[in-house]
Order: sequence, then structure tokens, then C-alpha cells
Amino acid sequence: GTVTPIKITTKEVANDFLNRYDTFLFDCDGVLWLGNILLPHTKEFLDTLTSLGKKAIFVTNNSTKSRLSYTKKFASFGITVKEEQIFTSGYASAIYVRDFLKLQPGKDKVWVFGESGISEELNKMGYEALGGDDPRLQTPFDASTSPFLVNGLDEDVRAVIAGLDHDITYHKLAVTLQYLQQEDKVHFVGTNVDSTFPQKGHTFPGAGSMVESIAFSAGRRPAYCGKPNMNMLNTIVSAFNLDKSKCCMVGDRLNTDMKFGVEGKLGGTLLVLSGIETEERALEVSEEHVNPKFFAEKLGDIYELTQQ
Ligand code: PLP
Ligand code: CA
Repeated sequence: GTVTPIKITTKEVANDFLNRYDTFLFDCDGVLWLGNILLPHTKEFLDTLTSLGKKAIFVTNNSTKSRLSYTKKFASFGITVKEEQIFTSGYASAIYVRDFLKLQPGKDKVWVFGESGISEELNKMGYEALGGDDPRLQTPFDASTSPFLVNGLDEDVRAVIAGLDHDITYHKLAVTLQYLQQEDKVHFVGTNVDSTFPQKGHTFPGAGSMVESIAFSAGRRPAYCGKPNMNMLNTIVSAFNLDKSKCCMVGDRLNTDMKFGVEGKLGGTLLVLSGIETEERALEVSEEHVNPKFFAEKLGDIYELTQQ
């Protein structure tokens, strides 16, 4: 990037920042909370937006939970959020299957390598989801006894959606590959390309590390649906009929969140340093680097400044 990001450190800049936009798109982990710990003044910041008549939309690359379970996570922090305000990479993948691939609910089926956050969204749209948390995929793989192979592949499967799976097994990888070998029949969708994600001070393998392993064995490229993919942004923009110039993307990662806002031509971007990036990274100038328009140590700092 070439534009120098503005650090929000005064009441004036904080108010100017809030006044510029009518809709805020929030990444969740690293911005609102860290795992199960709510960051300071998250609720107060969101309440301020509501009192100013502004819209809040939540955009997470975490495919493991459905939008409904996200509303419960918000509720556990005392924050009321409607399911319609939440977009996960699992939901974005299900939308891609429905609106872009145009698979037929009640007829076409989807094989899931991933968790309930994908299957639940598919089911809600009327698609049968196979694989996923099926306990038979937790047994050691044996090609001559696997029920998925000896009974034959399901003829109605038209897409594979792959995302992060904490219960990854060789059995699951092996059956997923069998579906992807039906190149002309079965589409390949990936929830998100994140190589890792931070948790409790450690870094763990993310969805991309699993999806790319599947892609390697299949010799195919997936259509990724999460941030920074524009499919996800276009879905959100049309769902709320948003004026992009009045939207601001708030996130903690340059190559997903800030890229999402910049490539999507949103009015603004805010990077918070409560997640993975540092001030040095926010300010780094190079060709391939995506810089935010604004940055702050924490979201709650902006709330505190407005209260001064
Ligand atoms: N994927 C998984 C499995 C996660 O647990 C997380 C964060 O908790 C993420 C992705 C990143 O989520 P977000 O886009 O909200 O930062
Ligand atoms: Ca994040």
C-alpha cells in the first residue's frame, strides 16, 4: 500500500472515524474477543453504534460454528445479535453451492470435510450433508470394509465443501478424495484459506492447511468462499443493499480482513492490534502489502476516546 494509515488516538479522530461510515463489518476473533475472552468495551462499542443508528455485521472465517451457534456465543457475552447479522465462511460456502453452483435442495447432496458449522447451514437450505461428523469416519480406514466405499459413493453428491476439521482422520481424507476424483460431477469448495489461527497464545493449523492437503491429493483447486474472497462480500452487500462507500471493514489481519475491505472498495478499513498484527506491520510500505486506512490498539480504545 501507499497510503499512510491513521492511528486513532484522540477523541476528534475517533469521532471522525465513526461519522464517516453507516455500516461496520467486524471480523470476530482478535477484534471482539480472543477465543472465549471478550475484549474490553466490545459491548459498549457495539451499543454506541446502535445508538448512532449504525449497522453492525459480523464476518468470520471460522467455519466450525453455524450462525445460530454464533448468536449463542454473542449472547454468552451479553450481546444480542440476530442470525442475519452473521456471515461465516461455512455459510458463505453453502450460499456458493446454492446460488453459484445452483445445486438442487432435496435432490443434490454435499460431502462435507469439516464441522457442524458447514452441515447445519446446508441443512437449513434444504441440502443433505454427508460426511462431516459421521462417527463411521472416526474408525481406522480400511478400503475393503469402509462403508463409504463398499456400499459405493453416493450418486447424488455434486459438491465437496472442505474446511477446518478438528476430528480430521485418514478415513475422512480418503473418502473425500474419492468424491473429488469425480472431476466432471463433483465441485470443490473451500471455506477459507487461512493457514493458521491463533488461540491461547499459540498458533494452530487452520482450514487452509487441511483444504490444501486435500487439493494436493486431488490435483484440483478449490473455490474458496471466505475472506478475502469477493463472493462473501458481494453476498453481504446485496443482502443488506449496502452503499460500499459508507462501509468500514474492521479486522485484525492484513491479508484477509484488510484485503477484503480494500479489494472490495469499501469506504474504509480499520485494523486493530488486539489480534495478530503489529503496528510495524500496519505501517509497513511495500507493493504487495495491504495497509489499513485507520488503526487502533483495540476496538475498546475508540469507545474510550469518544467518552472523554
Ligand atoms: N478458523 C477457526 C477454526 C477459528 O477458531 C478462528 C478463530 O477463532 C478463525 C478461523 C478466525 O476467525 P475470525 O475470522 O473471526 O478471526
Ligand atoms: Ca480475526
